[in-house]
Amino acid sequence: MTTLTETSAVERISAAVHERWMQSKHEQGVTSRKSETGEELMVPYNELSEAAKSLDRGTVEAVLAALPVGIKHVLEERARQDELHGVHDYWEPVWFTILGEEFGEVAKAVESTTFAEGLVAQDNHRSKIREELVQLAAVCVAWIERMDSKA
Ligand SMILES: [Mg+2]
Repeated sequence: MTTLTETSAVERISAAVHERWMQSKHEQGVTSRKSETGEELMVPYNELSEAAKSLDRGTVEAVLAALPVGIKHVLEERARQDELHGVHDYWEPVWFTILGEEFGEVAKAVESTTFAEGLVAQDNHRSKIREELVQLAAVCVAWIERMDSKA
């Protein structure tokens, strides 16, 4: 499974952190800030050296590592779904259909474990239910993100 720290999610968040840092410097009237090696840091994230980017990545990875594990898994699944299916601008009923399909998979996992096992789900079956819940939550987040991108 692709982990969040291996995906473009870290890059996206690192770029946002860097842009916010630059904005705050600009607000203070600062227009130039050099690293210890003399590199100009007040440039867009994609123009930074790998060494400079790695400082931002380290911060982001530390924050992500501190997130509750369920949230972290939903974000990992979000990134995985984008890599698998691409980013789409679906019509609301299509999002609802996708969500319904994922909900159905949760229901199927519950039905095939809980009832088959006599109301006491085994841990390995619980993990299947949890996996489906993470996928369902990730679709909710994706839909919310698309809505927010149009706001
Ligand atoms: Mg599913």
